[in-house]
Amino acid sequence: MYTDEIKEMEKYADEKNIPIMQKKGLSFLCKFIEKNNIKKILEIGTAIGYSAINMALVSENINIVSIERDQEKYIEAIKNIKKCKLEKRITLILGDALNIDLKDKYDLIFIDAAKGQYINFFNKYKDNLVEDGFIVSDNIDFHGYVENIDEIKNKNLRQLVTKIRKYIDFLKSNEEYDTKFYKVGDGLAITYKKGVLDE
Ligand code: SAH
Ligand code: MG
Repeated sequence: MYTDEIKEMEKYADEKNIPIMQKKGLSFLCKFIEKNNIKKILEIGTAIGYSAINMALVSENINIVSIERDQEKYIEAIKNIKKCKLEKRITLILGDALNIDLKDKYDLIFIDAAKGQYINFFNKYKDNLVEDGFIVSDNIDFHGYVENIDEIKNKNLRQLVTKIRKYIDFLKSNEEYDTKFYKVGDGLAITYKKGVLDE
């Protein structure tokens, strides 16, 4: 469905250097959404709508709210969502996710925005998750840099990767939540309240 539109988005992202999800990570996430019967999704970091559109196409029962702070990307996302006739099921919010307050609860929260802010996004939105919901975080491996931090010469990059490491430690040592890490795409983490996946 909408194969051409999706290919166009991949081309646009490639040309403009927009870090959309890698295909393997995306297909893993879509299967997870299908298997767990996820219906309400909150996405932090829309970019041009690529991941939101792909997630929405998993099932007609899925509704997504997605937040983007960059106006140009937000406008591009609106166009893409219209092309795929998903404007009834994907709602976009223009703004900084750290300044927005949402009341609704979601089955899945997908964090894919500024990598240095993941702990803040997590803490800000964890109460918007249903009791047995999931928080999925993208770019946990960050192009392999996270495991090879000593080799990074660029200072800004090293700082960013240090922050991703801190987020990983935050998840691993969290007393309320468990996390599984997947080496798929650019690395995904799936977090849920302790006990939720126990038999
Ligand atoms: N999820 C998208 C890719 C998102 S790229 C996909 O896979 O198709 C990350 C996006 O997060 C960028 O467009 C950036 O502008 C946005 N972003 C970064 N920090 C943000 C914040 N604090 N609030 C909202 N959006 C943010
Ligand atoms: Mg990403």
